[in-house]
Amino acid sequence: GEANDPADDDVKSPPLAGPNVMNVILVAAECAPWSKTGGLGDVAGALPKALARRGHRVMVVAPRYGNYAEPQDTGVRKRYRVAGQDMEVVYYQAYIDGVDFVFVESPEFRHRENNMYGGNRVDVLKRMVLLCKAAVEVPWHVPCGGACYGDGNLVFIANDWHTALLPVYLKAYYRDNGLMKYTRSVLVIHNIAHQGRGPLDDFSYIDLPPQYLDFFRMYDPVGGEHLNIFAAGLKSADRVVTVSHGYAWELKTSEGGWGLHEIINENDWKLKGIVNGIDTKDWSPELDVYLKSDGYTNYSLETLQTGKQQCKEALQKELGLPIRGDIPLIGFIGRLDPQKGVDLIAEAVPWMMGQDVQLVMLGTGRPDLEDMLRHFESQHHDKIRGWVGFSVKTAHRITAGADILLMPSRFEPCGLNQLYAMRYGTIPVVHGVGGLRETVQPFDPFNETGLGWTFDRAEANLLINALGNCLLTYRQYKESWGGIQRRGMMQDLSWDNAAQKYEEVLVAAKYQW
Ligand code: ADP
Repeated sequence: GEANDPADDDVKSPPLAGPNVMNVILVAAECAPWSKTGGLGDVAGALPKALARRGHRVMVVAPRYGNYAEPQDTGVRKRYRVAGQDMEVVYYQAYIDGVDFVFVESPEFRHRENNMYGGNRVDVLKRMVLLCKAAVEVPWHVPCGGACYGDGNLVFIANDWHTALLPVYLKAYYRDNGLMKYTRSVLVIHNIAHQGRGPLDDFSYIDLPPQYLDFFRMYDPVGGEHLNIFAAGLKSADRVVTVSHGYAWELKTSEGGWGLHEIINENDWKLKGIVNGIDTKDWSPELDVYLKSDGYTNYSLETLQTGKQQCKEALQKELGLPIRGDIPLIGFIGRLDPQKGVDLIAEAVPWMMGQDVQLVMLGTGRPDLEDMLRHFESQHHDKIRGWVGFSVKTAHRITAGADILLMPSRFEPCGLNQLYAMRYGTIPVVHGVGGLRETVQPFDPFNETGLGWTFDRAEANLLINALGNCLLTYRQYKESWGGIQRRGMMQDLSWDNAAQKYEEVLVAAKYQW
């Protein structure tokens, strides 16, 4: 890592040396900063760098949705057969922060930067088939720093249903035929709600030997059956990781497993929960590039009170809200999806509008929820901003300028925004599920411990209750408030801890026969 990377000082255990150093290829449908719709993109951009810092040779493979600045055409062109059609791909490559970033160029991906998962089911499926086929052969074809990775001592990390075909292809095309004998695969579950479901006929697009159909076949509780890509990936992968312990537990229940809980229980021995880290360079109040203009300012633990105040006023100014340093500013950032509990915020808005607060919401997603944001803003123009759009800059500025971050998610595998918020002295109020429960210990006023407020069920009255306690503390117990902020900011949320745990999984996969 670079000399100015604060995470470098935090490494708990030294990098592995000698025989356990591995070649690692992480494959994902999105990778920040080039492409991102949510936490998956952040993880794909940051975990590989942390693994590289531990001494491994690490590559990321993702689609080339747009014209990215750094990655160059490697000149390597290959053709893959997808749904009976020959598709040519071109591999692009850049070496950044110790990681080889390889992008797969194809008309299938082009100009999709704002619409990565758009199109009909079969089109999306074909794109993912192409990505997985192109990724599994990268170690043979794409030279990085002069030499290909090769297929010995290699572990693939696939992510979510989009790349869950990779472990299946690795097995069916190669391992079953005595090829890639020393290559393993790990599948990471970021969100089980999206599974790549379709009719069994979709099997023809996937291009596998007929005996593999059973890997994909799922019986529906109401009768009938469907094809399920995530199911096949879970069965084929050597190891499975999910993004928190709480979510690992929830996945095994019939409510949390979304139909896949039985498969997950059968493969429990493969499963491990590892809480995501954050990119401590991108998300740092000291270094944040989005706080260097328009009246914002960088700040640290030492300059927290004045720095945060200045960011709040800059945010109010930028959004045209009344500029008031004393008013609690509540933020929300996220995909506008029922998962994120935006409807609970909606139910709580009438109560909130009776309080002396400001509310700033940023998100894109379901059209009706986007309309709802606009509606709130027009109805309560002196108190609410509902910014419909995807803006990384605005997300950083809200994280810095807000006092409180709301995350009433119905379920949340890990959740990154609460981690970012705590780094910036912004206090999370969250539904205590999955990763939220694990990362936001509730404030205990008697012992002055804890990091925020949680509520136990996804209900508006419980949200109001938690937020009410939070606002009371903000207004009347400044010392306690400062303590919560400081504890949040002082945590080590870097990827280095998580990378060490991933490494244990990679080693376990490597020695599995
Ligand atoms: P999920 O992966 O379910 O969307 P996470 O909390 O894990 O939720 O990650 C969300 C990531 O996407 C965060 O980095 C967040 O800042 C970002 N994000 C979500 N919506 C927006 C938006 N409208 N504009 C900018 N960034 C966003």
